[in-house]
Amino acid sequence: MQEIKITFAEHKKVKPGIDEKLGFGKFYTDHMFIMDYDINENWHNPRIVPYGSLSLDPATICLHYGQQVYEGMKAYMTKNNKILLFRPKKHIERLNISNERLCIPKLDEKFCVDAIKKLVNIDKDWTPTKPGTALYIRPFILATDPYIGVRPGEKFRFIVICSPVSSYYSAGLGALKIYVEEDYVRAVKGGVGFAKTAGNYAASLKAQNKAASMGYDQVIWLDAIEKRYVEEVGTMNVFFVIDNEIITPELQDSILSGITRLSCISLLRSWGEKISERRISINEIHEAYLNGRLKEAFGTGTAAVVSPIGLLRWRENIMKINGEKPGPIAKKLYDVLTGIQFGQIEDTFSWTLEIDACC
Ligand SMILES: *Cc1c(COP(=O)(O)O)cnc(C)c1O
Repeated sequence: MQEIKITFAEHKKVKPGIDEKLGFGKFYTDHMFIMDYDINENWHNPRIVPYGSLSLDPATICLHYGQQVYEGMKAYMTKNNKILLFRPKKHIERLNISNERLCIPKLDEKFCVDAIKKLVNIDKDWTPTKPGTALYIRPFILATDPYIGVRPGEKFRFIVICSPVSSYYSAGLGALKIYVEEDYVRAVKGGVGFAKTAGNYAASLKAQNKAASMGYDQVIWLDAIEKRYVEEVGTMNVFFVIDNEIITPELQDSILSGITRLSCISLLRSWGEKISERRISINEIHEAYLNGRLKEAFGTGTAAVVSPIGLLRWRENIMKINGEKPGPIAKKLYDVLTGIQFGQIEDTFSWTLEIDACC
């Protein structure tokens, strides 16, 4: 395995104070990890360097045609000052799934997890300690050849940056107001919806703006063909509780396979809950609501963990769910998942990986 060359920052930045509002993505740590790819050299020159600007030729492929992929994961500080990564291998496996779709060369998964451990260990003093906060880790890959014809790149750069963050929604475990979007779609069959790639998020901004201007936090995305079946909520996966059945849309290529989604399904199964991965239409949800059977709805994702949905607007229908308060299933999932992430609840699934002093 290749040696990671380390160049320490000469000047450390001022870290946010313990009571400073971290927000999401406002602060970045002192170092970053970089590795290059060249068609003749494979992935090479792994290094940890001071955090700083990139210098790119204006013709760089990723700037024009969006040949890019990324990941988002978190490191958590436990009460006894250990730092835990949550399912890092799964995140790098998913990065490789995105890579395959975007014609970006595969990464060695074990090497990348070790590189992230090393980077987090070097910047470990940046891991925030307040409840609900974490060190957000953003690995990403760019096609870096200067070439403005449309073709896959032959040179790439893999970069990892880290940012201390607080909970994604300032309201904490408040309930979201959601608009069911019927004009714009997020992803199509055969497209790139299952990949974490920049274009998906650029394409979603307009609907997000529209929802925000009407006073909603996020949108629910429906399938692009029939505009009937629920796919995701904002940049989260989505769950509904109807009577005693917990339903999440089954995976397909227009849905991002969330690791929080996967973890919630495992937890719910282990608790003996009835959990179904199946198609669910907005009509079914509305009907259940009218019959008083829609008990809860919530989104899941690394940034926000579990986000209860308090209100859904579909056409002229306003559905208020569980009195616009977090429901018992969302609460239990949030408590147990964050309990495992912060090392307060035994990790019987072996989801966490400790950053040991050795790296
Ligand atoms: C990242 C993401 C999710 C959530 O995935 P996690 O692995 O749980 O963070 C869901 N939907 C979209 C569109 C995403 O980009």
